[in-house]
Amino acid sequence: MARILKFDDRSWHNWHFTERDVPIAERYELHRAVTASLSDMRASAKAVQDLIGKAFTDRRRLRAHGATWSFSAAPSVPGGWPLATGYANQLFALPKTHVDPTFSGDHDGLVLCQTGISVAELNMWLEPRGRSLATSGASNGQTFVGAMSCSTHGSAIDHGTIQSQVRAIQLIPGPDRNLWIEPASRPVTDGRLAGELSATVVRDDRLFAAALVSLGALGVVHAVLIESVPRFLLENHRRRVPAGPELLRAMASLGDTDFAACNLPGAGGPISSSR
Ligand SMILES: Cc1cc2nc3c(=O)[nH]c(=O)nc-3n(C[C@H](O)[C@H](O)[C@H](O)COP(=O)(O)OP(=O)(O)OC[C@H]3O[C@@H](n4cnc5c(N)ncnc54)[C@H](O)[C@@H]3O)c2cc1C
Repeated sequence: MARILKFDDRSWHNWHFTERDVPIAERYELHRAVTASLSDMRASAKAVQDLIGKAFTDRRRLRAHGATWSFSAAPSVPGGWPLATGYANQLFALPKTHVDPTFSGDHDGLVLCQTGISVAELNMWLEPRGRSLATSGASNGQTFVGAMSCSTHGSAIDHGTIQSQVRAIQLIPGPDRNLWIEPASRPVTDGRLAGELSATVVRDDRLFAAALVSLGALGVVHAVLIESVPRFLLENHRRRVPAGPELLRAMASLGDTDFAACNLPGAGGPISSSR
């Protein structure tokens, strides 16, 4: 069963020691059960709520972190309690029956990712299913939620960073709140998944946008629903070309203008084309 382990550490450092000797009061780790299940997801969310309640009582700051690959102090919580999420890494395909009928995206590509799933683990799960992240940037040891929370990894001229593929967020902002947040302008589930996670559905564009890149400040992101894409081959071409008017126009339009007119190497079509 999901559980939170406590460690009496008094100092904290990030993975690459660019932040070190950060004084902390205690350290916590969130762990999943061996067998993945939605009942374990519920227990995990409840354990996080209980820990937040304890932090309120003890008047301690609590901040979740992923792989602590951020070079900055973004995941650190001086004097408080860091919560490591990396052992809470369950994955579930969302059944098509649970998708809101108005959702215009890929009903086959929706995956529920628990808080600590790393990009590497997600890729290993998606690839044999013929699926892929649309973008992931370099390296793969970071957690998906960590990269999402500070808006890193994988932006291209016509594509947002890693969080652009998130469609819903399970956020635990307090001991008595467990929210399933979707944009009101683009609902994705019919509410049954939230029910199975004991979460309250909130459809709100602004709250969704805030929770997407929250740097851990709004609470613990316990899960995200992502939209994967069919597996594709990424071609990489490097050649010096003159920055003529067509190319400058296409670049300035952030991909809305067709790059085909620019005589670039490779497929030559719009840069978002994939196969
Ligand atoms: C070798 C290496 C290569 C890198 N390559 C790239 C690259 O190609 N492109 C790029 O943009 N960056 C790159 N980075 C930077 C780094 O990968 C990113 O900063 C990434 O976001 C870190 O993810 P993480 O899981 O380590 O998150 P962390 O550093 O642990 O946390 C990041 C932020 O998210 C918050 N957070 C994490 N989990 C949760 C949660 N469950 N709930 C609420 N808040 C949470 C934390 O509080 C913190 O504010 C690289 C770093 C390294 C070390």
